[in-house]
Amino acid sequence: RDFDADEGEATNINVVVRCRGRNEREVKENSTVVLRTEGAMGKMIELSMGPSALSNKAYNFDRVFSQAADQAMVFDDVVKPILDEMLTGFNCTIFAYGQTGTGKTYTMSGDMSCNLGLLSDEAGIIPRVLQVLFNKLEVDETDSCVRCSFIELYNEELRDLLSPDEGTKLKIYDDNSKKSHSTTVVQGMEERHITSATDGLKWLQQGSLRRQVAATKCNDLSSRSHTVFTITVHAKRKTEDGEDYLMQGKLNLVDLAGSENIQRSGAENKRAAEAGLINKSLLTLGRVINALVDRSAHIPYRESKLTRLLQDSLGGRTKTCIIATVSPAKSNLEETISTLDYAFRAK
Ligand code: ADP
Ligand code: MG
Repeated sequence: RDFDADEGEATNINVVVRCRGRNEREVKENSTVVLRTEGAMGKMIELSMGPSALSNKAYNFDRVFSQAADQAMVFDDVVKPILDEMLTGFNCTIFAYGQTGTGKTYTMSGDMSCNLGLLSDEAGIIPRVLQVLFNKLEVDETDSCVRCSFIELYNEELRDLLSPDEGTKLKIYDDNSKKSHSTTVVQGMEERHITSATDGLKWLQQGSLRRQVAATKCNDLSSRSHTVFTITVHAKRKTEDGEDYLMQGKLNLVDLAGSENIQRSGAENKRAAEAGLINKSLLTLGRVINALVDRSAHIPYRESKLTRLLQDSLGGRTKTCIIATVSPAKSNLEETISTLDYAFRAK
């Protein structure tokens, strides 16, 4: 089944917020808690901006998780429905967006260990997706094929986290073979065929380790780079009339660079962008999402590597979820406001 990109329904962007508790440093500094939510899983978040409650700022999102929400709650509430969409043939993307240290990697990967097939309670979205995906495929007993890839994007350069070859940079090309929706191909990217959750976890662990090793050599790599873990599923299915067809679904799980990389230096400063002080992919992602929300005629996919890479999974018949992660402490209030404003514009 071929779906036309323009045939899509309303833009399907889900925006949620996740607040962590205060960390050791914030407690030690006596930085007070400046945000209020409604229970573990509400929809409202309120920031206290000054001594008077009159200056408080409140936002509504599709979901707001407080620090009381654990990994399983986040998965069940926002990820499970997306996984189901993927298995009906959607291209889906989940982004973690937020200031460095607020829980993007905790939310996307968390604890990646697996003991006798059991995940840790601290397991994040990717391990849980792998586990639930293979359970579903086994139950469905369809002929299926699952692949994964894992890429890092730093300074507009792509690196393959699944390649044993450390220095190899990947190139993106336009794929003109499909007329309906322009897509891109990443030349030389490793795509691993996986047959179990454990299999997929092994690649996730291996790639994450490569990233960590590189980050110890390069100071700001972990806060300025994006990682994209992509799971592709092909499965033989039958239509209601009993006809065979090939279902293709894709899920991109994206741990974005720290949002402070676009906020401090001012998003519109062209010279700062050229000097590499602003993260071009992060900035362009915001513009692409805003253009989709506004239903602009022109979506600036081509202006960054990240948006080119995700072009076939943003807009049209796709599903997107942005998880904005924030700190509750007064010392981070300015970044928290910027993060919530960015996320709110995507609604
Ligand atoms: P980021 O990837 O955004 O820089 P991390 O995911 O590395 O941030 O989180 C920073 C620290 O805070 C880690 O030690 C992480 O385990 C912890 N942390 C973040 N969010 C939570 C949370 N919701 N619950 C418990 N610990 C968290
Ligand atoms: Mg991180």
